[in-house]
Amino acid sequence: MQNIYLPEKVKVIKIETHSPDVKLFRLQKVKGKFSQDKNGMIFGPGQFFLVGMWGYGEAPFGAASSPENSSYIDFVIRNTGGDVTSALHHLDKKAEITLRGPYGNGFPVKFLGKKDLVLATGGCGIPPIASFIEYIIKHRKNFGKVYLLYGAKTPQDILLKDRLKAWEKHIKVILTIDKPAPGWTGRVGFVSDFVKEIEIDPNNACAAMCGPGPMMNALEKILRPLGISDRRIFVNTERKMQCGIGKCQHCTTGEKYTCLDGPVFYFDEIDKNWD
Ligand SMILES: Cc1cc2nc3c(=O)[nH]c(=O)nc-3n(C[C@H](O)[C@H](O)[C@H](O)COP(=O)(O)OP(=O)(O)OC[C@H]3O[C@@H](n4cnc5c(N)ncnc54)[C@H](O)[C@@H]3O)c2cc1C
Repeated sequence: MQNIYLPEKVKVIKIETHSPDVKLFRLQKVKGKFSQDKNGMIFGPGQFFLVGMWGYGEAPFGAASSPENSSYIDFVIRNTGGDVTSALHHLDKKAEITLRGPYGNGFPVKFLGKKDLVLATGGCGIPPIASFIEYIIKHRKNFGKVYLLYGAKTPQDILLKDRLKAWEKHIKVILTIDKPAPGWTGRVGFVSDFVKEIEIDPNNACAAMCGPGPMMNALEKILRPLGISDRRIFVNTERKMQCGIGKCQHCTTGEKYTCLDGPVFYFDEIDKNWD
């Protein structure tokens, strides 16, 4: 019988420091490539994997690279000071670690096709949104107008800076920092302050979001005036999680499992006590 908890060995082929406490890890299979499904997908945007290190444990992370890239998968990981993220942040390139997944539902990519999209994120919520944007850009004609709202505390906290620049050629990027900072000439304020820059058809628009609680509250203020209904707002949620496959019950929220029924939920399905 196959052991469902058995992870696969992968090697770290790149580590980039993106902010004082966030690093990008590029993982490759030790042998061969990641397997694609019949649509050429390795995972769905918004799905997650369990990344592990022997002796430290496993933790869930959303994949941040193109879901159609079978050569490697990128993860953007904040060091929380816990066992797994601390150990990962002390890794050297070429280390071997473990991976299992993909798990969870991910964003409903087919349903979102042909729609105008408001993608919103802040802090370290960018990985699932990043993989979705890579997918959108590859299939640009299948989507309507696309806006990325991305809020960071300071310029040093902006993640995936190179990709943000590349994305600007294909989608409208609304990047903002919380407070003025030396040398920063871009937008200042919360993402909710820039709603006037969004021009969408509310009857044909959806939103996909992932970010910290306070940002979600701010986004609610944006999405209401834009007229996007709750069943068209998809939220990628984070819960403390262990097994990732509906066995341990650590990630339950009401009667739902974040790992099996989520991590993407309709806006009216999620617990709004964000902290
Ligand atoms: C589906 C999913 C996708 C995720 N994607 C990413 C990602 O792409 N990048 C990233 O940096 N993190 C992501 N996380 C959060 C990440 O899994 C946790 O930060 C990680 O488990 C911490 O592991 P640790 O062993 O280092 O710390 P732990 O010892 O598990 O925890 C350290 C501290 O972080 C808190 N914590 C742990 N997990 C969570 C959580 N899920 N939400 C809030 N607080 C938590 C703990 O209460 C504790 O204070 C995701 C979580 C889920 C459920």
